[in-house]
Amino acid sequence: MSENKKILDEEKIILADATRVKYFDIVIDHGQGAIISDADGNDYIDLLASASATNIGHSHPKVVAAISNQAKKLIQYTPAYFANPVTALLAKRLVDITPGNFQKQVAFGNSGSDANDAIIKFARGYTHRSYVVSFTGAYHGSTYGSISISGVSLNMTRKIGPLLPNTIKVPFPDQNQRAVGESDDDFSDRLFKQFKLPFETYLPADEVALVIIEPIQGDGGIIKVPQKYMSLVYEFTREHGIVFAVDEVNQGLGRTGKMWSIDHFGIAPDMMSIGKSLASGLPLSAVVGRKEIMSSLSAPANVYTTAGNPVTAAAAMATLDVLAEENLVARSEKLGELARDFFEQAAHSYWFIGDVRIYGLNGGIDIVDEKGQPDNQATTKLIYRIFQLGAIMISLRGNTLRFQPPLVITEAQLSQAFKILTQAFNELEAGTLSLPETDNHIGW
Ligand code: PMP
Repeated sequence: MSENKKILDEEKIILADATRVKYFDIVIDHGQGAIISDADGNDYIDLLASASATNIGHSHPKVVAAISNQAKKLIQYTPAYFANPVTALLAKRLVDITPGNFQKQVAFGNSGSDANDAIIKFARGYTHRSYVVSFTGAYHGSTYGSISISGVSLNMTRKIGPLLPNTIKVPFPDQNQRAVGESDDDFSDRLFKQFKLPFETYLPADEVALVIIEPIQGDGGIIKVPQKYMSLVYEFTREHGIVFAVDEVNQGLGRTGKMWSIDHFGIAPDMMSIGKSLASGLPLSAVVGRKEIMSSLSAPANVYTTAGNPVTAAAAMATLDVLAEENLVARSEKLGELARDFFEQAAHSYWFIGDVRIYGLNGGIDIVDEKGQPDNQATTKLIYRIFQLGAIMISLRGNTLRFQPPLVITEAQLSQAFKILTQAFNELEAGTLSLPETDNHIGW
């Protein structure tokens, strides 16, 4: 029996189903750069790095060294009780590298989910208002607060209600809702009317604490908010004294070809959540926000034993060093152009490739049927075949291929990934692909 199978059989019995997004019957044993390897020694190109929180690649030597050096000095002493040098340095650095020429403060957490919970708390504390407005298709996390403001999967909310009260979802400007030939600005105006509808019918704006948005939705399908829509929403929050926050957990830290996805819009948000790749996959998140908002709550309103843990903070300092030293934000933009060329060409060549959205080394590629409708089965066949050919890719919302390799992927590895994708596309076109024979193959 293969090592993969042995470990998986045990895991299937012990791990709760709800804790998994399941894809392939493999066990990841080790990784280096853009390559991950399973327990049977098979190598795969990782095209899922934003999800797996490894923007700068697996086991980067600088991060490994920083973790090891810090672990020799001090692994943990609750930062909420006593400061430690590295956590303090990281907080200062995050203030410096986030947009906004105003005074800021930082709240560390253990996950993107609890960072977004903290945003809700601070916004409510600051405004003395209760309502939170977020968007359909958003993923903000898996705690009760962050689930309550998410809108991406029925299985996340099924059976667990009631959710946090006074959380309202408005339609995200997903291009599936765009009328044929509708310009960016017309689309923005029309969707902004939908945004305002609750405010005109039952939701007093002066009772709304927070609007939170992913400037480019990640798990919702890699979808960028139109510029004008973003400006209209932002201005609306200014007009009504509402805190404007962005979730950069998925799309931040260079993923989109800019340091933060909100940088595409030239807006400095009141608050921002950061996580995932911040500490190259160690559990660390942060909220960076305006000082007056972040100081609205008293101790100990948002305390976690290991939030800002020194080893995770050292990993984050090294991760930010690597992003800068290896010029990875610019690299994301540059390699993103190669990805755009490849996928746009593929969209010309293969009828089943629909909308292609590429922002940096970061893409959502829709797979459609003859009528142009989402084709979830074809998408599943594709990702399974891509896996067999040696690359790890998953789908979003059923029919979107998610393309997010580590920003350190070499051009040779990228070409190899394109070769694998081309072969899978050819085989789908030829009708030779079948669905995987496993019950362990579900997505979001
Ligand atoms: N926000 C966004 C945009 C995310 O993509 C995620 C994770 N997919 C989260 C929040 C939650 O982060 P975590 O899983 O670390 O709690």
